[in-house]
Amino acid sequence: MNNTRSTDKSARLFAHAQTLIPGGVNSPVRAFSSVDADPPFIARADGARLYDADGNEWLDYVCSWGATILGHAHPDIVAAAREAAAGGLSFGAPTEAEVALAERVTALMPSIEMLRLVNSGTEAAMSALRLARGFTRRDKLVKFEGNYHGHADHLLVAAGSGAQTFGVPDSAGVPKNTASDTLVARYNDGAHVREIFAQHADDIAAVIIEPVAGNMNYIPAEADFLAELRALCTQHGAVLIFDEVMSGFRVALGGAQSLYDASPDLTVLGKVIGGGMPLAAFGGRRDIMQALAPAGPVYQAGTLSGNPVAVACGLAALKCVAEDGFYERLDAKTQHLRQGLRAVAHAEGVPFHCAGVGGMFGFVFPAHPLEAVTQYAQVKDASQDRFRAFHRGMMERGVYFAPSAFEAAFVSAAHGDDDLNRTISAAHEVMRELAAAP
Ligand code: PLP
Repeated sequence: MNNTRSTDKSARLFAHAQTLIPGGVNSPVRAFSSVDADPPFIARADGARLYDADGNEWLDYVCSWGATILGHAHPDIVAAAREAAAGGLSFGAPTEAEVALAERVTALMPSIEMLRLVNSGTEAAMSALRLARGFTRRDKLVKFEGNYHGHADHLLVAAGSGAQTFGVPDSAGVPKNTASDTLVARYNDGAHVREIFAQHADDIAAVIIEPVAGNMNYIPAEADFLAELRALCTQHGAVLIFDEVMSGFRVALGGAQSLYDASPDLTVLGKVIGGGMPLAAFGGRRDIMQALAPAGPVYQAGTLSGNPVAVACGLAALKCVAEDGFYERLDAKTQHLRQGLRAVAHAEGVPFHCAGVGGMFGFVFPAHPLEAVTQYAQVKDASQDRFRAFHRGMMERGVYFAPSAFEAAFVSAAHGDDDLNRTISAAHEVMRELAAAP
């Protein structure tokens, strides 16, 4: 890999973009600000690689934030997109293909009896929440610290101070009153959720959780904790929502819910379901879904929902991932990479924790070796300086990780053994630099 990379064109594009687009990007983390760097501007992508405007090649572990599980520009998906596009880009009317996609998803995730297609994970989570509120006729929501469900007002909420569980706005522009209907609990802390239910059970419409969290680095829920959420929601008539925008079709064919043998009332899907196109969905129990307009009183709609090109790409992607042994092969790749990264960190004496499942993983640089990462606080306590130095060192060696210590990483089916081994060798060099740094 080439260590001397010209970035002139990306730098010029970024400067120009900043005059036209706030921060120069269409989604904040793309700006690379938390690693004190400027982003490469991507010109094209193929398989496991991105190519930037200066012609640099990057081995990609962002995979469009988890969406491109088959690698970039997979021939089956590109063919599906071409064929669908030639037949019309958007009809705003029902199609046979969207019924086929609904059938496919309901077959793969038995907790989903009916579903509706939307355009983004944000829209899906926001709609699932309105549906849960309309169905239960209650207003409050329980979410978990460090989990992300898109940027709808009720979900862009952080924990209040001290013992209080009422959320506070996590962004300017989120009304205080809206945020206060969201109760923020600690992940993997059943006692905390029980406490919240003890105070607010009659008002809680829904509990929403990332069952395998990828927005506070990588933290899987503990099985007992998910079982407790299920029991509390059932006991108190609240809707249990699994946000599987990231974990759905990424950690296993049946999503995180299949790994835990869990049955949420509603599930939110995105990313892989669209094969890289703007497509997301929410679905679940038939009695709840029937509350959606026009069948029921909860309004939800979309001009581009079920877009024929996105649906064709989603169907093609789900066909490929359903091939025999797909997740076993993906899991083996991720395991090989995780073991390799752990081994080189260990060899250089750098405290490092790395875990993952399926095609998703995460790593942190804790002050001391850790057995497991189960809490958001452990990720916050890990060294950001070391993460930044690691990220910079890997970028210098052509390896593209998410520019934030709070994001998960992704392996696609297009990552070959050579790619993984090259990544491990690059990491070894960078770990050596970290170990030598003051
Ligand atoms: N939920 C989860 C778990 C996510 O990771 C994301 C995005 O990363 C979202 C929801 C929001 O999805 P989108 O960015 O498509 O709006």
